[in-house]
Amino acid sequence: MSFDKKNYGMDTLCVQGGYEPGNGEPRILPIYQSTTYKYNSTDEVGGLFDLTADGHMYSRISNPTVAAVEKKIADLEGGTGCLLCSTGMAAIMLAVLNITSAGQNIVVSNSIYGGSVNLLGVTLKRFGIETRFFSQNSTDGEIEALIDGNTRLIYGETLSNPNLDVFDIERFAAMAHRHGIPLVIDNTFPTPINCRPFLFGADIVVHSTSKYMDGHAAVMGGAIIDGGHFDWTNGRFPELTEPDASYHGISYTENFGISSAYIVKARVQLMRDMGVSMTALSAFILNIGLETLHLRMPRHCENALAAAVFLEKHPKVEKVSCPGMKNDPRYPLVEKYMPNGTCGVISFTVRGGRDGAVRFMDSLKLASIVVHVADARTGVLNPAGTTHRQLSDEQLAAAGIPAGLIRLSVGIEGIGDIIADLTQALEKV
Ligand SMILES: *Cc1c(COP(=O)(O)O)cnc(C)c1O
Repeated sequence: MSFDKKNYGMDTLCVQGGYEPGNGEPRILPIYQSTTYKYNSTDEVGGLFDLTADGHMYSRISNPTVAAVEKKIADLEGGTGCLLCSTGMAAIMLAVLNITSAGQNIVVSNSIYGGSVNLLGVTLKRFGIETRFFSQNSTDGEIEALIDGNTRLIYGETLSNPNLDVFDIERFAAMAHRHGIPLVIDNTFPTPINCRPFLFGADIVVHSTSKYMDGHAAVMGGAIIDGGHFDWTNGRFPELTEPDASYHGISYTENFGISSAYIVKARVQLMRDMGVSMTALSAFILNIGLETLHLRMPRHCENALAAAVFLEKHPKVEKVSCPGMKNDPRYPLVEKYMPNGTCGVISFTVRGGRDGAVRFMDSLKLASIVVHVADARTGVLNPAGTTHRQLSDEQLAAAGIPAGLIRLSVGIEGIGDIIADLTQALEKV
């Protein structure tokens, strides 16, 4: 019986996708702890270099353990291929650089992860790439005015970290396609269990697998997935259609078709040159996390919603932000894109500003103070006291971050214990 992604649902793909042992082979995906691979003839190795034969030659470019997990993630997202990277930041960097050069620009939502703001807005500027940020509340006309002949892509996060803004994927896909450019989506927070951006017109998906996909705060990783349907031959992407001088004149679209040109180039050119690969051991650990993703995500959502309902009624809490609650202004978009749930991250503001936040956080017993979100354990972070520490109260207010704002990443412990912990810590505020 062969494994066919067309016949298996998401739950089965999580558990068994990507790896199919032959007779007498290890039941569990093995860790191929080898940088290199043995061949019988120079011809065979030549074929690998020419990209005419399938196989592994050096683990910077591909590795059997990593490849199995890439196959699982590609199938979970419904894409044609996946490239795993050392971190989420590495994946975002390669996803952009794969089709963007000095002198060109990208159009990016301003409601994205802080690390991505730095990479795209500051570091890539030093490479001669300009990032034009837009607000998702702007009109189509205002955003399209940012797009010109040198624009390479539109970029946003399905559910933004940390604001939890919901990206209207169909709206931005239509906008990108009107201009012949792809829509790139960071789908880290919902994971493919709760949202599959390709179904709504996205062209490329990226992930920090360090969050829910691993789910245990055990291993760093990133992923790029190719949806396989963007037409790179529309005249705007010569790096995919014209001969690649660094690969003895290969044209990616001619050799691999529009369905795989993007992801093959990202691997054989950029990963080859930049070397931000995922290790076999990391892929093995990530895979164990993925085996329970379909069980963990609903529990994260259920617990987060229960915590939000509890906090909303609490007299020491000023405001709760949880797009999965029916009274949240983002709920209509949640219903459309994430009808089964969003994720475990919510935020709320305690009374008493910075002091209130510190008292609350220092009193927690079950939830821990961490600079991480989206793993099995409940964690909290106060942006005013950590990531945004350098800002004054006035600057914080201007950035839309109240001093008492707490980001709560609700884990998969018992909800009774989580709420009891929140209750006793709020009593100290
Ligand atoms: C954490 C995160 C990243 C960065 O990923 P790393 O694995 O930490 O490099 C990118 N995007 C989002 C939405 C994230 O939450």
